[in-house]
Amino acid sequence: LAGQTMSPPLLISSLIRNADRYFGDITIVSRLEDGTIHRYDYRTCHRRARQLADGLTQLGLVMGDRVASLGWNNFRHLEAYFAIPGAGLVLNTINPRLHADQVTYIAGHADAKCVLFDLSFIAQAEAIAAHCPQVQHFIAMCVPGDMPADTTIANLICYEDFIADASDQFEWPVFDETAASALCYTSGTTGEPKGALYSHRSTMIHSYAEVMPDAFNISSRDVIMPVVPMYHANAWGLPYAAALAGAKLVLPGPMMDGRSLYELIEGEGVTFSAGVPTVWSGLLDHVAENELGFTSFKRMNIGGSACPRAMMKTFRETHGVDVIHAWGMTEMSPMGTICTLQARHADLAEEDQQALRETQGHPVFGVDMLLLDDHGDELPWDGKTSGNLFVKGPWVIDSYFKRPRGSALHDGWLPTGDVVTISPHGYIKITDRNKDIIKSGGEWISSIEIENISQLHPDVQQAACIGVVHPKWGERPILVVIPRRGADLTKSALLDFLDGKIARWWMPDDVIFVDTIDLGPTGKVLKNRLRERFSALITP
Ligand code: ADP
Repeated sequence: LAGQTMSPPLLISSLIRNADRYFGDITIVSRLEDGTIHRYDYRTCHRRARQLADGLTQLGLVMGDRVASLGWNNFRHLEAYFAIPGAGLVLNTINPRLHADQVTYIAGHADAKCVLFDLSFIAQAEAIAAHCPQVQHFIAMCVPGDMPADTTIANLICYEDFIADASDQFEWPVFDETAASALCYTSGTTGEPKGALYSHRSTMIHSYAEVMPDAFNISSRDVIMPVVPMYHANAWGLPYAAALAGAKLVLPGPMMDGRSLYELIEGEGVTFSAGVPTVWSGLLDHVAENELGFTSFKRMNIGGSACPRAMMKTFRETHGVDVIHAWGMTEMSPMGTICTLQARHADLAEEDQQALRETQGHPVFGVDMLLLDDHGDELPWDGKTSGNLFVKGPWVIDSYFKRPRGSALHDGWLPTGDVVTISPHGYIKITDRNKDIIKSGGEWISSIEIENISQLHPDVQQAACIGVVHPKWGERPILVVIPRRGADLTKSALLDFLDGKIARWWMPDDVIFVDTIDLGPTGKVLKNRLRERFSALITP
């Protein structure tokens, strides 16, 4: 027996239509590449998103085509967030800080037909133009006067001219909610980046869930500043949640230094922000050096890497800003667990509450968890026993892009690669990681990619790359190498060899030469063993 309700498809276009209809006058502030501030409102954002959607459709792009972006957090990128999925196309946000080889790998693998880019990233766009013949259109997200005079990109389109020629009467098409909306690449257990392909349905349910009080607690009374980049896991879904709630948005662009962030927070009355731990130390330093405080700033979600206790305590105790720890993965759109305290915790001693806040928190409704040992047996949720965390839920991927449906799952669950304990009330604490990513400044570094390239050096017999704890960056890569017998390999020779082949910030902080590397029963390097062996050697 079917329920007798309407079943309109859950589509992303409804978010910006809602924001226009009910919150049309609410402001969206952007810091541009030249440092100036741009402001307009949701009504204008919607009008321009319709123009962009119309323009892209007129280029001949059709349902399901991928459109890549290389962009900062700013209003044009936001328009792309609504226009591209709204028109039935798929937004492929590429992390421009990756090495050019990976940027072109992603654009090629995604089979992007069109690329939108901020001028800061013209070199990456040119690399795509040189290597990805299937990309037919390049759009520079700028005004005509800023168009680059000489570029190797043929027929470069100017964004503002492009949308000026398009209709703002574009009607958002209605289609099945399971249609793909966005494609974000992440690193995992193989060297190549892998694509997480979200749908309208998964994104919409994620948006509903994200605004809930025990999730990000977002309302029309908030002023939201997503510091997490729009090229990282849909900026944790914040642009969509903001449009759903009708919250003012503040997009900080490229300027992540303490002074710039502080100016925006105070100047725009930011109440809520979110980002990886690294970026906040600059803000704390700026505030301390200049003896400043916060007037509007109430809370922030920190995740992507473990948030250091000192950072949490300074925000909370010195500045009255509640730091809410969060855990997620690109594969989870990315929201997984959020650490808000419950009524049962109200009477706990302050240090016990603090210890709880440092856990990664409680699953957001929709996310289911399973804790297994290495043999696949279930482990108790006792807050002590560590095991492999598996998840499922309506915004969790079941396979990577271009791989068979369900192929990422084990018995219907997605392995997270995170090793955790779970408390009786469902609070997880990450104790280790058994996947080969290193998180530095909240962005991934593929240890396998570094190993593979290192092993191309003729004097390297075996190389293993591990992440070691670093006070500023969370983790940094170091390379453990067995040189070939008789070779005279030096650290600088190996680093020179890597230089230019990987992004600069992927360069290992140290190279350690060893005679043996421990292998597990299946011949895999025991990275946990290596981490134990070498983490103490590093003095950042
Ligand atoms: P995101 O950075 O948006 O969470 P990624 O896909 O880049 O997503 O990285 C996911 C991985 O980052 C997780 O599987 C986990 O290893 C690590 N991670 C995310 N949040 C936290 C956190 N709060 N504490 C520790 N590690 C985290």
